[in-house]
Amino acid sequence: LSFAALPLDAGLKKGLAAYTKPTPIQSASFPVMMSGRDVIGIAETGSGKTVSFGVPAIQHILSLPSHSSNPKKAPISVLVVAPTRELAMQTHTNLAAVASGLPSISSVCIYGGVSKDDQKKLIRQGPRIVVGTPGRLLDLAREGALPLGQVSWLVLDEADRMLDKGFENDIREIIKMCLPLPSSPLGPIGAAGSASIPSSRMTCMFSATWPMTVRKLASDFMCSPIRITV
Ligand code: AMP
Repeated sequence: LSFAALPLDAGLKKGLAAYTKPTPIQSASFPVMMSGRDVIGIAETGSGKTVSFGVPAIQHILSLPSHSSNPKKAPISVLVVAPTRELAMQTHTNLAAVASGLPSISSVCIYGGVSKDDQKKLIRQGPRIVVGTPGRLLDLAREGALPLGQVSWLVLDEADRMLDKGFENDIREIIKMCLPLPSSPLGPIGAAGSASIPSSRMTCMFSATWPMTVRKLASDFMCSPIRITV
């Protein structure tokens, strides 16, 4: 697989110019995610997992009717939940680099320990992507400052670490605020090409390990996921 062979927007290909070829997780995940299937990636940080979901997620945003009509007024479509501030910032920076050729795609990073007001201001500017840690995401969402009701692409990053850190209830509450699971595995993205407003979400999960606790989360919140191990 090469980046050039993929049906990607030209601006997105520009953002990938720094990379020579896809990593194994990227080669495996792109076709599956772009077909609209949920994906579980058993992969470590350093495998290129951020780009593996970031590229299909950004291509998904570009296909949404709300995006082509007015990206500034469009809702948050992609939500990435991560266990730590460091990982959230790294993911946000990596996604921003991939989207650097696409001025209409912006990302905001949300984490605890800093002023909520600055983050609320950034959210009001209309990002298409939000990356954050569970506690602060939930805090802002409960206040009504973080509208998640139109999230059609959800990423649970380092799921095993999030559960180890005791974020399970927060994660479950956040997920329930997003669009629901589709009734069939090809629900949301299968319809994206037809430029309809999504009524369900695509979910991807990454985890370095595959214990029962993570399996339970996947079975509760994913639709017939394809598991990729690298
Ligand atoms: P991640 O596993 O997402 O934390 O990515 C680890 C590092 O690999 C990041 O610094 C990425 O910029 C880099 N990376 C991602 N995809 C590729 C690729 N296809 N070729 C070379 N480096 C990459």
